[in-house]
Amino acid sequence: MQSLEKLESNVRSYSRSFPAIFSRARGSIIKTEAGQEAIDFLSGAGALNYGHNNHRIKTALTEYLASDAVIHGLDMVTPAKIEFMETFSSVILRERGLHYRFQFTGPTGANAIEAALKLSRRVTGRQNIISFTHGYHGASLGALAVSGNRFYRAASGAFLFGATFMPYDGYLGPSVDTVGYLRKVLTDESSGIDRPAAILVETVQGEGGINVARKEWLQAVQATAKDIDALFIVDDIQMGCGRTGEFFSFEFAALSPDIVVLSKSLSGYGLPLSMLLIKEEYDAWRPGEHPGTFRGNNFALVSATAAVDIYWRSQTLSQEVLRKGELMRRRLEGIASSHCNNFAVRGRGMVLGFDCRTAEIAESTVRKAFEKGLIIERCGPIDQVIKFLPALTIDPETLTQGIDIFEESLAETLKQAGSVVD
Ligand SMILES: *Cc1c(COP(=O)(O)O)cnc(C)c1O
Repeated sequence: MQSLEKLESNVRSYSRSFPAIFSRARGSIIKTEAGQEAIDFLSGAGALNYGHNNHRIKTALTEYLASDAVIHGLDMVTPAKIEFMETFSSVILRERGLHYRFQFTGPTGANAIEAALKLSRRVTGRQNIISFTHGYHGASLGALAVSGNRFYRAASGAFLFGATFMPYDGYLGPSVDTVGYLRKVLTDESSGIDRPAAILVETVQGEGGINVARKEWLQAVQATAKDIDALFIVDDIQMGCGRTGEFFSFEFAALSPDIVVLSKSLSGYGLPLSMLLIKEEYDAWRPGEHPGTFRGNNFALVSATAAVDIYWRSQTLSQEVLRKGELMRRRLEGIASSHCNNFAVRGRGMVLGFDCRTAEIAESTVRKAFEKGLIIERCGPIDQVIKFLPALTIDPETLTQGIDIFEESLAETLKQAGSVVD
């Protein structure tokens, strides 16, 4: 490991939290070169909703490779692209009464966010973007400008501009109506806040600490955007593709975003693929205005089509996510209430956050968990929240085993810290 550390830049991060060489993976189990197995509750930060090397999806990829079909074609038309758009349109969009055009961007989520911001500025002729406290939208300059985290913002070394941050749902405590404030400053001609091109929101903030927005709050944000002729953008990069139970994380609130941003689990296989869904009336691009060498990577489109085909033609996966999500919530709430530490559990579907309140407790718990064979990460402004993001396809036994490891690791941490344990 020492020589490897000499080779790779200091910027590396997950390899520090999980110091091992990972060589094989299937479903929710990842194996190290030393032969140890770990349960994966990190799931590629949300890119592996269907697990590692999902064998049902893999068949489509191996067949595609074997046939010498086009892998790279910039954004030229291929059967793989047509099939993806047709399948996604009929299985996902039409079923939900949604109508969108597809824009394939560069492969990162950040690049898709950049495209969404550019497009809303083009459509409205305005510059400002409203984003929210604790929001995370990527690490390129435009995406950082709308992201809250001071550590990432400072790393840019640039003056980040073009955004106004508003308090997310619950940011000022349960009794403060933050969307009332948003509406007030955006409709007041003298509030000092420029009329925005768009309001950009996550329905559950992933990196920001698993903060969950209520249905009524999201609906009021959407209505506010409409009233001031700003576009309403949902960043569904991490919470989309089934994470909260339904395919899109905003279905529960019956929202109709003007732009939806998807990436992470879109390819279904951990392959890079990002896109925007754009309402036709806002497709104001001129040809070629958002270039990118790896737009709509065909290999990833093939697995994306397979994932939609296999998992979204019926309600089975959705129902499973809700059932397993409930199981996770009950277990985590039980663990939280068995300690006198003011812990909190938040989330929706199969994304749950266990708020340890201090970074130390969270850090020690995930470190011990890794030693015991569980990979799980932290999030939130000071990394004080432990983020449960298992594959949606995980079997209940492995899920329970993973939570058991977390429970033990937390108990040991608290014992060592001398905290009160009931
Ligand atoms: C991960 C993430 C991004 C950025 O995606 P990258 O592929 O890392 O650029 C943007 N928004 C949300 C909500 C994310 O979780």
